Amino acid sequence: MERTEYIWFDGKFVRWEDAKIHVLTHTLHYGLGVFEGIRVYECEKNLSGIFCLSWHVQRLFESAKIVGIKIPFEEKELENAIVETVRINSVRAGYIRPIVFIGDGDMGLYAYTNPVHVAIAVWPWGTYLGEEGLKNGIRAKISSFQRHYVNSSMAKAKVCGYYVNSILAKKEAKELGYDEAILLDSNGFVSEGAGENIFVVKDSKVFTPPPKSILPGITRRVVMMFFKEFQIDCVERDITRDELYIADEAFLTGTAAEITPIREIDGRKIGNGDFKITRMIQQKYFNVVRGKDEKYINLISFVKF
Ligand SMILES: *Cc1c(COP(=O)(O)O)cnc(C)c1O
Repeated sequence: MERTEYIWFDGKFVRWEDAKIHVLTHTLHYGLGVFEGIRVYECEKNLSGIFCLSWHVQRLFESAKIVGIKIPFEEKELENAIVETVRINSVRAGYIRPIVFIGDGDMGLYAYTNPVHVAIAVWPWGTYLGEEGLKNGIRAKISSFQRHYVNSSMAKAKVCGYYVNSILAKKEAKELGYDEAILLDSNGFVSEGAGENIFVVKDSKVFTPPPKSILPGITRRVVMMFFKEFQIDCVERDITRDELYIADEAFLTGTAAEITPIREIDGRKIGNGDFKITRMIQQKYFNVVRGKDEKYINLISFVKF
């Protein structure tokens, strides 16, 4: 990965190589921390745009609230810190990673008096599932791992430790030669990718799993706004595994994965491979995030270089 110069750490900028923590950091041991993934895109001339910044910061605070972590900053302060981190590092396009974690102190599970730290890093980052995947679709596999049950992990929080489940699913899929895993929920219905939400197109209608076991993505929310604008029905409902196999189209959404078509699931080719609706949504998304669509311009926080 490409490094940048500074990381915002508890209110100050420190050099990338100096942003270090103690090995007894509580979050390192037990996974209780929350994070976000945000993208900044190059817009026109000397402007870049951070996409849906306030929604991401809001979700960071909601994640923290769900797991009972008190973030020692205000939302507005972190929004400004994110903008400044992008600016000071001159990252015109890339990925932003804010993380809230529990520092060292008590090592027991009940360690709510330990200090809460916040860090923000940014780096240039291309496509998550590859240029080729973005263009021609990826090959996915239904995972042997289940998505978290709603009352073992609370899915609406983006919690560090939850990603052990995602990493195991991703590892299994990659090692079997696939690009990404699709996880089912504890009732056997389609949940989401390892780090992306999923949409299915069948007979010009669109379906996506309801916000039960999934992390309700911001990209998912934006895509649902597009469907509304295009007057295409998009319904949140349980989706079965075999519905994926016989879908006309399927695609993944996420800040990292953007809009990625799925061309094959478990060795079955999806639809006729034209990705008509997927491409329309993908094109719209790239126009919107680059500030080329007036209707969505208020979702962008511009950074001047
Ligand atoms: C972050 C994430 C997503 C996508 O959310 P966005 O807000 O669109 O980036 C989907 N699923 C999981 C499990 C995630 O962690």
